[in-house]
Amino acid sequence: MAAYEYETHDYDVVVVGAGGAGLRATLGMAEQGLRTACVTKVFPTRSHTVAAQGGIAASLANMGPDNWQWHMYDTVKGSDWLGDTDAMEYLARSAPAAVYELEHYGVPFSRTEEGKIYQRPFGGHTTEFGEGPPVQRTCAAADRTGHAILHTLYGQSLKNNAEFYIEYFAIDLIMSPDGVCQGVVCWKLDDGTMHVFNAKMVVLATGGYGRAYFSATSAHTCTGDGGGMVARAGLALQDMEFVQFHPTGIYGSGCLITEGARGEGGYLTNKEGERFMERYAPNYKDLAPRDYVSRCMTMEIREGRGVGEHGDHIHLNLSHLPKEALAERLPGISESAKIFAGVDVTKEPIPVLPTVHYNMGGIPTNYWGEVLNPTADNPNAIVPGLMAVGEAGCASVHGANRLGSNSLIDLVVFGRAAAIRAGQVVDRAASVAAFDKPSVDKAFDRFDTLRHADGAIPTAELRLEMQKTMQADAAVFRTDKTLKDGVDKMTAVAGKMADIKVTDRSLVWNSDLMESLELTNLMPNALATIVGAEARKESRGAHAHEDYPTRDDDNWRVHTIAHVDGVKVTLSQRPVVLDPLTSEAEGGISLAKIAPKARTF
Ligand SMILES: Cc1cc2nc3c(=O)[nH]c(=O)nc-3n(C[C@H](O)[C@H](O)[C@H](O)COP(=O)(O)OP(=O)(O)OC[C@H]3O[C@@H](n4cnc5c(N)ncnc54)[C@H](O)[C@@H]3O)c2cc1C
Repeated sequence: MAAYEYETHDYDVVVVGAGGAGLRATLGMAEQGLRTACVTKVFPTRSHTVAAQGGIAASLANMGPDNWQWHMYDTVKGSDWLGDTDAMEYLARSAPAAVYELEHYGVPFSRTEEGKIYQRPFGGHTTEFGEGPPVQRTCAAADRTGHAILHTLYGQSLKNNAEFYIEYFAIDLIMSPDGVCQGVVCWKLDDGTMHVFNAKMVVLATGGYGRAYFSATSAHTCTGDGGGMVARAGLALQDMEFVQFHPTGIYGSGCLITEGARGEGGYLTNKEGERFMERYAPNYKDLAPRDYVSRCMTMEIREGRGVGEHGDHIHLNLSHLPKEALAERLPGISESAKIFAGVDVTKEPIPVLPTVHYNMGGIPTNYWGEVLNPTADNPNAIVPGLMAVGEAGCASVHGANRLGSNSLIDLVVFGRAAAIRAGQVVDRAASVAAFDKPSVDKAFDRFDTLRHADGAIPTAELRLEMQKTMQADAAVFRTDKTLKDGVDKMTAVAGKMADIKVTDRSLVWNSDLMESLELTNLMPNALATIVGAEARKESRGAHAHEDYPTRDDDNWRVHTIAHVDGVKVTLSQRPVVLDPLTSEAEGGISLAKIAPKARTF
């Protein structure tokens, strides 16, 4: 057994992650006087949320008529009827208050002439339950909305005496033999010391796992660490086969050009200069939802109408927009286009390609953020002491496909909900229960084995193999054959973890070891994704299956539950929550309005 000395820290709550979700949860906990620690592997304001450009959805109706029922309808339809209805109602209803709260905390939103929060159009957001024209629902701070939110929430958390443990890497959860989460084991990256955070409640806010793919808009730190920890604890992952490709990643680098660019009037063209989205989506054109636009772009390229020397990408045109609008509303992306594509957006189109952008799947939770451990008897059983919020979690409000600007609102609405819930269930007066020592030893053993791993394959090499396999076989278009091959290949790739080579054995700033730990987290996420995709014999949202081109509500309107143990993935199912929180009589949405129908644009 590996012997590591460690320091123990007792808290009411420990939040792992300081992105938008982690910070909103931390702030909410601290505001209620819960003793709260926030542990993060990167400095809080460097979390991936900082890169969110376009904005945050809420039916403020600042630019025209809007209401939460329309927002809810769009979210239900966007999810392709896989989201949990109670959670989607909670999101749409709570969104306006959550945005005003951000405003009052100090987020510098862009303004209209009258001084109201500026809102822009975004794909899939409409009026009149999808019957009316697009709505301007996405609140923005220029094209740096995530940056503004993150800095504000960090400042507010400090003001409320939350304690930050920065550049601490969470290795594994501490689970008692009877399945209660008791804390988390961490490695302090800058001095190599070990730390046990012992808490009454652990909140995983570790973000997505975009880096399981070769081309992704997400930061290199988005390695699904929460999902990895949960899988190792024998707990479930949900709906992992649903991976969103953003239509406009810059060709080559994958760097994101916000959907706000099309919201402000940009449009896509093929090699004939045709605005092809008019053909596929006569109503919403370039602002149809992301899964649909990505698929149309891929279709154009496959049919020989791609642009560039190899005919393998598409053009995004902005040069017709007034220079002032570009400078005021989209300054960041003008800069990105210059740096990453060498393009002056006032004169030339930007070369773009669908790129992995968001993970709809994650750790299953209810709409309070409490982690679920679905069993046959009780699909909504909770794991005591454990919550998950943000992209790491799956509440599930995005179902099979997330609408643009619905993630930032998910972060703050469910970060806040988790804090409210913790305020109810955490007993402030009680002392923190002693943690399970064997569970801590197990984490150190795993850490130590990896630290001394002396196999044949360097981490970077194996990671690349995983990323290329996922990119090739679990992409926008999927067939029985590509998925079957992909499962075999990914199983082989994951099997090679046993033969990994870590060169640096030190404990101080050992990026080799950190990236190896991250790879142990990416792997179960990637496996659950491709195995789940292979099993789902229908097309729904981001999961477009060429051999089963239509949605099959009779057999597949159901969540996929995956348990990953080494290279083995065991699948089961959890029913979708169909009932909203409130009935029509109570002021809620009518069930007839949100009944499944074909998704057309
Ligand atoms: C380029 C880009 C643009 C986007 N634009 C928009 C937009 O305009 N609107 C919108 O709604 N959505 C947008 N999204 C999606 C949205 O930004 C993300 O889904 C969201 O920011 C995720 O936030 P999060 O708090 O869950 O995680 P993150 O912001 O990714 O933060 C994760 C946190 O977890 C910590 N962490 C992870 N693992 C560990 C570990 N092992 N130990 C300790 N700490 C750990 C990290 O340090 C970090 O603090 C965008 C995404 C990208 C990539």
